[in-house]
Amino acid sequence: MANMTKISERIECVKGKISSACARVGRDIDEIKLVIVTKSATIEAIQEVIRLGFFNLGENRVQQLKKVSTQVAEFLESGNDDSALPEKVNWHMIGHLQRNKVSQVLPIASLVHSVDTLRLAEEINASAAKLNLFPKILLQVNISNEPQKYGVPVGAATHLAEQIVTLPNLKLVGLMTMAPLMHNKDVIRACFVRARELFVELRGEKIVGPEFTELSMGMSSDYEVAVEEGATILRIGSAIFTS
Ligand SMILES: *Cc1c(COP(=O)(O)O)cnc(C)c1O
Repeated sequence: MANMTKISERIECVKGKISSACARVGRDIDEIKLVIVTKSATIEAIQEVIRLGFFNLGENRVQQLKKVSTQVAEFLESGNDDSALPEKVNWHMIGHLQRNKVSQVLPIASLVHSVDTLRLAEEINASAAKLNLFPKILLQVNISNEPQKYGVPVGAATHLAEQIVTLPNLKLVGLMTMAPLMHNKDVIRACFVRARELFVELRGEKIVGPEFTELSMGMSSDYEVAVEEGATILRIGSAIFTS
């Protein structure tokens, strides 16, 4: 139980920092969705997070997504006399997705954050058509241009977005990016600013539709900067699950 208390305290702490960051730039905290990344968490810890009222969960690997989402579904079924529990939670696929795993992910994920090539988008579109699904996706952009990173280069993002919006079973609802893992806050901020500029550009040029509203950026080490620069989805794991 001691450990559980710590989780609620850590979430409160994260929420407090999000709230302060919002206040600094005049944003409303309701504009921001917190995706709790469960990859480092035990099932008990995940259950605690759900009991605390957080229903957006994220995983970065397909095997883990399948396993943990099944465990969570069983937990929700067994506890359906508990009115505080939802019928289901929303799963976010936040990590790199291989084309041969797409059909396993679509029935589970409510949002795929990591679409970064036309080939992957086409595979998701084809798989979704077979399953009669219309999945929401984000275009992952490699803002920092680190060669080891996934994501479409900034210079190719507009063209890729234009191609993706022609795929009838996909709903392109925004952008996702990761800042470089470093301590230099200026570099991190510059990344988030560039992502926001691209987001605004795509909307302004009507390359994307009115449902293009999400900017997924900010992790445990940089979410306050991300909030200041316009993030609408934060993906936070270790700040909640690791002491
Ligand atoms: C693990 C992960 C996160 C969360 O990282 P933390 O530093 O644990 O908050 C966010 N986004 C992606 C894509 C991840 O793989």
